[in-house]
Amino acid sequence: MREVLSMIFQQEDYSIEVKTFNIIQAIYLIGLLFINFIINICFEDPTYIYITVLMCCLLIVSCIDVNRTGNIRRCACITSIITNFIYLPICFYGYGKLICCVPVYFILGILYTVLTVGGRLGTILSSLEVLYLSAITIYIGIRLPGFYSMPVTTLDYIAILIALLIVIILSVIVIKTKINLYDTEFSRMQEARLKVIDAYNSKDIFFANTSHEIRTPLNAIVGTVNLLLAQKLEPHVKDNVYNILNSCNALLAITDELMELSNTENSDVSIVNSRYDFSEMLSEIVNMMSVRLMESSVNLYVEIDKNVPKYLYGDGGKVRQLLINILNNAVKYTKEGHITFRVFCTQIDTNQIDLRVEVEDTGIGINKEALPKIFSDYNRDEEDDEKRIIEGTGLGLSLCKELVTKMGGNISVKSEYHVGSTFMFNIPQTVNETDDIASINVSGNTSAIIFETDSNQGESLKKVLQRLSVKSILVSDRMEFETSVLSNAYNYIFISAERYLENQRFIDRKLENHRLIVLTDVSQSIHLNRSCYMLTRPAHIINVAMAYNNEMTKFGREIIQMGGFTCPNTTILVVDDNITNLEVASGLMKKYDANIVTAISGTDCISAIKQMHVDIVFLDYMMPGMNGIDTLYAIRGLDSENAKNVPIIALTANVVSGAREMFLDAGFSEYITKPIDVHKLENTLKTFLPREQLRIKI
Ligand code: ADP
Repeated sequence: MREVLSMIFQQEDYSIEVKTFNIIQAIYLIGLLFINFIINICFEDPTYIYITVLMCCLLIVSCIDVNRTGNIRRCACITSIITNFIYLPICFYGYGKLICCVPVYFILGILYTVLTVGGRLGTILSSLEVLYLSAITIYIGIRLPGFYSMPVTTLDYIAILIALLIVIILSVIVIKTKINLYDTEFSRMQEARLKVIDAYNSKDIFFANTSHEIRTPLNAIVGTVNLLLAQKLEPHVKDNVYNILNSCNALLAITDELMELSNTENSDVSIVNSRYDFSEMLSEIVNMMSVRLMESSVNLYVEIDKNVPKYLYGDGGKVRQLLINILNNAVKYTKEGHITFRVFCTQIDTNQIDLRVEVEDTGIGINKEALPKIFSDYNRDEEDDEKRIIEGTGLGLSLCKELVTKMGGNISVKSEYHVGSTFMFNIPQTVNETDDIASINVSGNTSAIIFETDSNQGESLKKVLQRLSVKSILVSDRMEFETSVLSNAYNYIFISAERYLENQRFIDRKLENHRLIVLTDVSQSIHLNRSCYMLTRPAHIINVAMAYNNEMTKFGREIIQMGGFTCPNTTILVVDDNITNLEVASGLMKKYDANIVTAISGTDCISAIKQMHVDIVFLDYMMPGMNGIDTLYAIRGLDSENAKNVPIIALTANVVSGAREMFLDAGFSEYITKPIDVHKLENTLKTFLPREQLRIKI
């Protein structure tokens, strides 16, 4: 019976409210049956037995209805009104005596209303019932003075006692059952909570493992791609390889984001300050965004103020994260038009600036209703059909808010639905070095002609040059271009790849003395016959200044021809026991403008490395006394970072098959045969010297 009842009324999928209602209803039913049972025993008057049966049916039907529809309030209200306003007063009046103890059962009726209807409605209804039942009791007392006669027989006293007992016991059972049910539900919820926390932690472990798993092969790809880039490649192949590199870097950034997200979820956002190169960070991020916009028609414009410091002191990783999150959103939610990325700063005091960033887009914008909640956890503008199909976690902006707040700044957004959005944030950062983010270090006439395919890009480049205090003109057609070039007033030519190809003959014949900077998109491959500087759009003061200074950018695609570069500020150490060989090697390397140091023996080589920073060592393999291998081990055994990491190239006269493997196994970075081949030497320098130390010679 218990099982059947619990199957009907306490099924697993019933909510706690329905389960409680079922129990109260059952107890109430029992209460009403008792009333009639006692009254019938005491007074042997079955007059109202039919009404009670009707009441019991009502209670059962309402129970079934609640189990079916879940609408507890409706059934509870109906039952409460019928029993308290009609049934109990009828019983009370009908039995005609106080001693039938019906008023004691009023308590049960009112308790039923309070426990089942609940809320404000329950309070109002139960108050009305108290007033109504009191009024009836008083009214009957006034109108029928003999009604409240004192108990006369022992049976009357027993009836009152039983009535009181029943009401007390039933009330206690109802309250106790309700508490038990809530306790059970609470333990279940605790269990579920633990499971959720467990799942949450597993998610973090999963994120961490996945990021690690993804990072490992990605790092291998990046390493291999860098090796590829160090080789002589056809320009279009090199372009494609750069695209692979850029996409890998974008993927690496995403894995960082995943890690960061899971860390933030664990409230593990601690700010770790150190010096960081802001200009390198900006170049890398802009490059990453250009790769993401590769297939889109959206233009990216970058406006970086010249007074923004190159080096900052703060949590560079978090700043990078912020920039990537906000720019990624702009890329994600903009299908046409443009995105403008602005970076500027205001001075707070001598060594503190307020770094300000704005990302403006012409994307789908944000609903007015969603705007106030946009920085809360898991808040996606799901009302918007266009956005629902764009994947996202709804966590990025809350992470940004948390990061900015931790760093002592503010983040805000302005947005108009279907027009676009502007996200802005500012954070204080410390400045210990005065270097500007970009500056041009060349003397002479720096003025430039801009011949762009897209006039908006041209205008944007003109603004960039203005920031760098460079005079420039924007030309729109071939005639204007030729006249400006032939006026000899401009030394630098910024030209789009398309315009270059259209005017190639003229440019190659007439512009030998001009510096040519060809502007390309990140995915564009172009084959040029002459040395030039390839600048990947969007142009901004950092990459434009680098183009002026002939500096190689980390992600640059500069074309270097044989003999087309120098490496000033570089120390090359050549070690050979033969003075003539040393002179030949030094002579060959002179044209690279490097500081060439020679050593006549392994011992000499060691003392040179102890005294100065060396960027690359060419080490003779066969030397009397300390030979190449001994010297190599001695260098690596020295207690300095430079000695441990400097590339060491073996110089050898006899080459047998498998020589490369042998030298690499021995610990050399590469080997070159004697007499030294210029191509091989140049490739080795390009491969092993840091890119930023190479300068294109034009
Ligand atoms: P998501 O992973 O969903 O992009 P975010 O926290 O980064 O999560 O962003 C929260 C919500 O803010 C997004 O779902 C989107 O509705 C809205 N949003 C953020 N950036 C932009 C933007 N540049 N343009 C339009 N809507 C945006």
